[in-house]
Amino acid sequence: MTAENGADSRDYPAGAYAPNGELWWRLRYAPGTRRPYGDERKLAAWLTFNVNEGDTFTMTDLRRALGDNNPNNAEHLNRRLRRLRRDGWRVPSNVDDRTLPVGTYRLEAKGWHPGLGTRPRSEEVSAADRRRVFDRDNWRCVVCGVGSGEPYPEDPASRAVLTVGHRIPRDLGGSVEIDNLQTECKRCNEPLRQELGLPETLAELLPQVRRFTTADLKTLLSWLQAKQRIRTRVDTAYDRARRLSEGEQELLKQTLLKMIQGDPKSSSG
Ligand SMILES: [Zn+2]
Repeated sequence: MTAENGADSRDYPAGAYAPNGELWWRLRYAPGTRRPYGDERKLAAWLTFNVNEGDTFTMTDLRRALGDNNPNNAEHLNRRLRRLRRDGWRVPSNVDDRTLPVGTYRLEAKGWHPGLGTRPRSEEVSAADRRRVFDRDNWRCVVCGVGSGEPYPEDPASRAVLTVGHRIPRDLGGSVEIDNLQTECKRCNEPLRQELGLPETLAELLPQVRRFTTADLKTLLSWLQAKQRIRTRVDTAYDRARRLSEGEQELLKQTLLKMIQGDPKSSSG
């Protein structure tokens, strides 16, 4: 792991190079497209050709591997690493194996990498099923309630990307049938927070809940009982309004303003 940023001067086997002759982990765009090339694939390629099975590598190595333009965020990279499991990789971290220092990983088994061609998709949910699940759940994360593309209330700079999660995890025998699928934002879909040892405790949560109004308490209880955030009629109207064209959304805003102001012409739009 001596390669400096951007300086991959050594020769690699043919499988390390994308069709355009660049190393897979240096690609900006997926071959033949203008779509950014995914970090997960880059990591798979870099690990394949730079780390031997049984050896360890660090978060710093990963950052170097992906170059300056990539997020250096540890959580982002951890998430990408975990996703590699689906492609057959075994890369335990300090969370899985306490003998490893924090930020160090051991490459136990290599899996799919871009040099092998098409990625196996056996575990994936079909596009049609995804669409059905999103439609059924009103294009909102059933865990936190955030809508597709909406900013997170506690982190307005990042916007929600929806994905399909399993109610009963695949590892525990859950199926890929629609009944076992639900809409989740990528953040809620990611088990990393819990695995990092940051579960909530009742002792920490209760003081906040004790300050709630009775109405808030009832809402929270009903959500817990339903195992999802229940939409109010305002939420539902908002969901529908978000699917209006921009022009119609503008008209709706004007109409709402007039309604609020009690203008008798409000419904003449
Ligand atoms: Zn969520």
